[in-house]
Amino acid sequence: MQLAELVYRSSGEAIMVSNANGEIIAVNPAFTKMTGYSIDEVLGKNANILSSGHHDRTFYAQMWQQINTTGCWKGEIWDRRKNGEIYAEWLSINSVYNEDGSVHRRVALFTDITQRKQSEELIWRQTNFDHITELPNRHMFRNCLNQEIKEAHSNQQSLALLLLDLDHFKEINDTLGHGIGDQMLKDVAKRLQTSVRHTDTVARLGGDEFTIILTGADICNNVESHAQRILQRISEPYHLGEEVVYVSISIGITLYPDDAANIDELFKNADQAMYAAKNLGRNRYQYFTSSMQEVAQTRMKLVNDLRGALADNQFRVFYQPIVELSTGAIHKAEALIRWQHPARGLVSPGEFIPVAEETGMIIDIGNWVLCEAAQQSKCWRSTLHPQFQISVNKSPVQFSHQSSSYDSWPTLLNKLGVSGDSIVAEITEGLLLDASNFTDNKLLNFRDAGIQVALDDFGTGYSSLSYIKKFDIDYIKIDQSFVKNMTPHSSDMVLCEAIIVMAHKLGIKVIAEGVETIEQRDLLVAAGCDYAQGYLFSRPVPVDEFDKLPSVIAIPTSAAES
Ligand code: C2E
Ligand code: CA
Ligand code: CA
Repeated sequence: MQLAELVYRSSGEAIMVSNANGEIIAVNPAFTKMTGYSIDEVLGKNANILSSGHHDRTFYAQMWQQINTTGCWKGEIWDRRKNGEIYAEWLSINSVYNEDGSVHRRVALFTDITQRKQSEELIWRQTNFDHITELPNRHMFRNCLNQEIKEAHSNQQSLALLLLDLDHFKEINDTLGHGIGDQMLKDVAKRLQTSVRHTDTVARLGGDEFTIILTGADICNNVESHAQRILQRISEPYHLGEEVVYVSISIGITLYPDDAANIDELFKNADQAMYAAKNLGRNRYQYFTSSMQEVAQTRMKLVNDLRGALADNQFRVFYQPIVELSTGAIHKAEALIRWQHPARGLVSPGEFIPVAEETGMIIDIGNWVLCEAAQQSKCWRSTLHPQFQISVNKSPVQFSHQSSSYDSWPTLLNKLGVSGDSIVAEITEGLLLDASNFTDNKLLNFRDAGIQVALDDFGTGYSSLSYIKKFDIDYIKIDQSFVKNMTPHSSDMVLCEAIIVMAHKLGIKVIAEGVETIEQRDLLVAAGCDYAQGYLFSRPVPVDEFDKLPSVIAIPTSAAES
């Protein structure tokens, strides 16, 4: 008896004994500690004074049903402490019977598991919710979408999946800092939630990408008004710290079951639609269409075909002469790649270069073009002009690639025994803008190797003078769009003249691109432009045709006066 008493008093587990009527007849100190009730306060009371109201009638009915038939019950239960606090406990109830089989005592043992429940809850929140916006995360969202699809299916209804991506959010992060960026994401999350009904699911997939499921009987006819409201709400000003910031969002929309029947397809569709919205100028929504699918499929096919093209020898390099305007002499050319596709015929670089850039294939392709061009310029140096130079386009991707498994251009030229000054690298302004040290070094290496540098498509980008000075550019290529609209005294004419004067002051030579008419050529001559390139002189042609071009193209001297 004493031993039993000792165990009972010192047990860390709360113990409560009640009689057959459910009246409490004994509790131990651990019970008092856990519930806050002293023995005097509970003696003779029904055990239901601990009830939290968390469980419904059926819960207790089932519990008593089991106790009455088997004598015991085990499980998790939420109770209430004297101070009102709700807590979770692991409860096990056992019965002691009289000789005649009637109930003598019920003994309840309980352990507080609130902390464990809380950490479980925390883990659950962490796996299912985004900590910045407190919206469901990708994991949770997939489960929700799965559920909604099942429901829509059984109710023979549709649902709409929206994929939303903030426009230029990176700039906000970069200029105002990540703290402000996070604050904005929170605000965006709130606005999205309040733009839809509470039955619709809003989630953050990561970064600045959000997604929404819209459900309901007539959803197909309502999607647009939702999308409109979202665009409107998101574009209102954000007051973040001291700043007032604006942002817009692009939305891709796809419908279940019209566009696709499974989650992955739906996501892919919404993604394509969202990119289409971006391409159409952002701050808008775009429905998924089957033609987007076709575009995506064509692109995938292009990627596959492109992989084999180099090994299969399907690329050609064409050359377009660059004419010296003061003499009409041709001792420069631009190398322009052509893809002779076995089924599609000639594919334009405008179509496949961006794909090659995205997939990284541009490095191998670009190096191949360089080697072709280098060998060609070596050849033309002996047949056409001792200083012959070939311009080779170099994509920014080729600069940012850090892999040491590729030879640098100076090394490649060295291996071919071609001097650096027979090559001009054509780069774009964007490259100089996000110039890392890495780009700096590569351009310096070019300089050391004698490779000259031309700034392509000048005037279409940022055209920052300080960069041009800093990077020691040798040539500026005035973009075709200016040349195209050039008439005497037009604004494009004035711009061209200004570019030429500026370049000359900085010791830079100017090449005009896309010269198609005699008038354009004459205006350029009058403006003092150094070189010109365009259909007027020759289209880009294969080597054998280039060889047939005259070595000097007549430039009438009277031209300058017109
Ligand atoms: P780009 O470097 O600006 O090349 C000039 C483009 O203008 C070429 O188009 C050329 O054929 C075209 N063009 C030349 N003269 C005229 C003209 O008088 N009128 C008109 N309307 N167009 C003219 P292409 O060959 O289709 O190349 C398109 C772009 O593809 C190039 O633009 C360049 O950015 C890229 N590209 C071409 N070859 C390569 C390459 O080997 N490597 C890389 N990275 N990009 C390349
Ligand atoms: Ca070029
Ligand atoms: Ca160009």
